[in-house]
Amino acid sequence: MKKITIALVVALALTLSVSPDAWAEKPDKKDTKTKPAAKKEIKQKKLFHIFREAFKDFGATNTHKVKILSGPTPVKMRNGRVPGKMWRATCGKYRFKMTIQDGTKCDIETLTKRVEQLPMSYIRACEVVSDVREDGLAIYFNLNGAMAHGGKQYINTVPHAPSIVIAHEVGHALEQAARESDPKLIEKWGKASKADNQSVSGYGDTSDSENLAEFAKVYAACLDKGPETLKELKKLSPRRFSMWEHILLRAPTPQRSWIQPLWPGDAPGSKGIKDNEKITDRSGGKGHLDRAAENVHKPTLTLHLPAKAQASGAAVIICPGGGYSRCVFDKEGNDVASWLNSIGVAGIVLKYRLPRPQGHVYGHKVPLMDLQRAIRTARANAKQWGLKTDQIGVMGFSAGGHLASTAGTHYDAGNAKATDPVDKLSSRPDFMLLIYPVISFSDAVGHGGSRANLLGAKPDPKLVKLYSNELHVTDKTPPTFLVTTSDDPIKAENSINFYIAMRKAKAPAELHIYEQGGHGYGVRKSKASASGWPENCMNWMKSRNIKIRPPKRR
Ligand SMILES: [Zn+2]
Repeated sequence: MKKITIALVVALALTLSVSPDAWAEKPDKKDTKTKPAAKKEIKQKKLFHIFREAFKDFGATNTHKVKILSGPTPVKMRNGRVPGKMWRATCGKYRFKMTIQDGTKCDIETLTKRVEQLPMSYIRACEVVSDVREDGLAIYFNLNGAMAHGGKQYINTVPHAPSIVIAHEVGHALEQAARESDPKLIEKWGKASKADNQSVSGYGDTSDSENLAEFAKVYAACLDKGPETLKELKKLSPRRFSMWEHILLRAPTPQRSWIQPLWPGDAPGSKGIKDNEKITDRSGGKGHLDRAAENVHKPTLTLHLPAKAQASGAAVIICPGGGYSRCVFDKEGNDVASWLNSIGVAGIVLKYRLPRPQGHVYGHKVPLMDLQRAIRTARANAKQWGLKTDQIGVMGFSAGGHLASTAGTHYDAGNAKATDPVDKLSSRPDFMLLIYPVISFSDAVGHGGSRANLLGAKPDPKLVKLYSNELHVTDKTPPTFLVTTSDDPIKAENSINFYIAMRKAKAPAELHIYEQGGHGYGVRKSKASASGWPENCMNWMKSRNIKIRPPKRR
């Protein structure tokens, strides 16, 4: 894939950095001299030239509109390298995101107009490219001399690239998505192209993948011009025509990230409570999203599924921290899911209800109730989401680690008599990843703030015992990976005592104590030794036969 991208960038640098008009080939003056020769010539006349007229007013008559749903949100584009703004939008039934690098002299209105010039069936590609970790449809200052390039999770263009260029990249985006279900797609395209015996453009004929993208562009122009022009293209190039129609209309749409409610209707105990959830952005305008939720009454799951080709089948339900008073769902949620996706593991971020939201008291039961529901939901949807039912773990940061370890020490097999099929399933996690966790509520070790938020200022000693999870370890406690540091204000003894309890019970556990790192570092890289924990976590998962699929080294 990388090779293709590099070749593509080079090819585009050579060909697309010229003005759009220059792409139209000059008519060949030597044709129509003798009859047999003329017949041969027509085959070599390029589609791009034949339909030259169709390119002139591309997109001028389209009437569909793009609606901006949200934004601009500050983001780091291209895997976190450059700052930009992101908008979420819809057009018809399609949902997608658009990003623009900061300082680019292109605004969202210009980008929107270009998207609106594409035929409706091409707008589907905008949804295909709007995956979790890439940019969607993006504008960059420059792309090393190229005007645009496209792949499964991105269509990147420079500010002046017109919509016909996007149509070419749509070809690449859909081609790559379709290759997930048909690895021989490009080979088949090459055969169809030979059988058609009809050149697309000198540029497109150089490789089967570029040939497809160039054909996508010609098709877009003909489609836009009307059915008569399209019929003409079909006559000239029947095999590629039907193949492209199939890819365009039926390629799978890999919607790999979405948010869904945890419970059908109101969550148990939340009926009639108004949704006055408060979201605070704590990033301080630094470009890296860092939001926290308070007053959660409608708990949600944010699904981040890895690319289909890389998915290992393992999944982790992530419990963000926040001392049981808020959910830090980017730094200890979505960011972590991105890392998990990079090793082929699904990341499911749980935004759970908090015990004491403003003006209301749920009490201690709701966070665990929500997490258990999340575990059962993942099992119930395993087939649909591409998960293995025995590879569903929980992960928790700080107070989220308390919640996750509560799930690992207070689980049930499900209620066989329940009417809801989700309730029939086990809530036992298959493994636990506890990162700078609160685990104990004992006076000597526990975190007073988390305890007070879960159990109140003067808790019943029985409840303190019940929620001191190191006291409930058995030989059935799921295998556990623990991370802590010497300088963590949440005492390292939370992890150490849990580890000792696991050892005594002969339950598998691995503990990493780093000297430095403090608290709340998530998966962010820093000089502190603790920031290397994801590597150790990955190695532990591998050794426990939890399926991971790190990217192949290039
Ligand atoms: Zn291309």
